[in-house]
Amino acid sequence: MFAFDNSYGRLPDRFYTRMAPTPVAKPGWVALNEGLARYLGLDPAALRGSLDIFAGNRVPEGADPLAQLYAGHQFGGWSPQLGDGRAILLGEHVTDGRRVDVQLKGSGPTPYSRMGDGRSALGPVLREYIVSEAVHALGVPTTRALAAVTTGETVLRQEGPMPGGILTRIAASHIRVGTFQVFASRDDVEGLRALLDHAIARHAPEAEGPMGLLRHVMAAQARLVATWMGLGFVHGVMNTDNMTLSGETIDYGPCAFMEAYHPETVFSSIDQFGRYAWKNQPDIALWNLAQLATALLPLMSDRATAVTEATEVLEGFRDLYAAEWTRVMAAKIGVDDMNLAMELLDIMSEGQEDFTNTFRALTDAPETARDEMTNRERFDGWLARWQATGPDRAGMARANPVVIPRNHRVEAAIAAGYAGDFAPFEALNAVLAAPYEATEANAPYRRPATDGERVTRTFCGT
Ligand code: AMP
Ligand code: MG
Repeated sequence: MFAFDNSYGRLPDRFYTRMAPTPVAKPGWVALNEGLARYLGLDPAALRGSLDIFAGNRVPEGADPLAQLYAGHQFGGWSPQLGDGRAILLGEHVTDGRRVDVQLKGSGPTPYSRMGDGRSALGPVLREYIVSEAVHALGVPTTRALAAVTTGETVLRQEGPMPGGILTRIAASHIRVGTFQVFASRDDVEGLRALLDHAIARHAPEAEGPMGLLRHVMAAQARLVATWMGLGFVHGVMNTDNMTLSGETIDYGPCAFMEAYHPETVFSSIDQFGRYAWKNQPDIALWNLAQLATALLPLMSDRATAVTEATEVLEGFRDLYAAEWTRVMAAKIGVDDMNLAMELLDIMSEGQEDFTNTFRALTDAPETARDEMTNRERFDGWLARWQATGPDRAGMARANPVVIPRNHRVEAAIAAGYAGDFAPFEALNAVLAAPYEATEANAPYRRPATDGERVTRTFCGT
């Protein structure tokens, strides 16, 4: 089974609350990710026989279950104490020199639950399973989904009593910007230092000191966010507690992929002012990194020099991000020409073209792309100039997916799951596992939502 070595549990006691998951009434399987299991050196058959572990009804040997403490800025406002309110870290599984967190999400109340019940409805479990695995298959760093189970219990949500679920999340770690913030806000310099050493050992062994770590995280986040942007992905809740030090995408609450391209696209029902709109994501990443830098200041010599140094490091983000964004767009249009890339985006936004299908049409059959265009005249001019550059179409086929998890498909899989039918969930996962190749099976999944199907709002609803 798991080969646990629990380094987080060796950090000071105030970093977490040691406790087991709360057992559930009658667990049932929804999904076991056999490919991921094998990648982690785990025997799928053994996991399949361990439903009670994935339900939180049994703590596996070698685990050191705990709920982690963190804080964070949520929509720009400071929350002095958050933490795993509905999750338990079972421990760290070590395989082939890689170390991953194994975490149950929806596993019962903890001291950090505040008003919440510590549980998750089945819908958000299915959503995180589908979208995190799709994001992985698209080539984006992300936490993964190892298992999804039903609990045989109901949870009370706005919609009424809903079937409950538990997701087993695999992550390079669950260290967040908000983990540093909680110790900084408590003037706990010793805690900060222990966390810094832990984070460096785990994610950036070559980094020197707080600014070395900051530089490392900046590079990872610049790369991550540029990759999201190139896929039309809107994370939806880029709070500092949802930004990892590892550079993995985490927390698939109100996230969604854009269909019609519009830079101001927002999905989250609670994002009233569009703070986390598609086009704002790079700026928000920098804002979050500035919070990380601030939290690291107490670890540096004198305050004034520290602020100057941290500011200098943060100023490097614009160039880092620009380089990543240029790389992403060059791959998408098959030529390193940002003027061409930006003009295409402008043409697309004018007609609100389907983000995914426009780039893929350019890849497979540029002539047909114009059929979809609203402003054909402008597009024709662009197309002629683009074709004259001799774009790398083979490279484009590896950068522009055929299928993405379109919201109406995700919602349909969730609705069927609530009705006890997991066939649409399984079919969707199968299609999304190979997103860069056009097949007969994925043809129906390439179609954008019709007006009746379109999902314009997504919910954090856990
Ligand atoms: P999120 O918006 O998913 O990043 O969660 C923000 C905070 O709310 C975290 O501290 C979560 O642990 C907590 N939280 C979210 N849902 C629940 C729930 N159902 N029960 C307890 N805590 C929750
Ligand atoms: Mg979160």
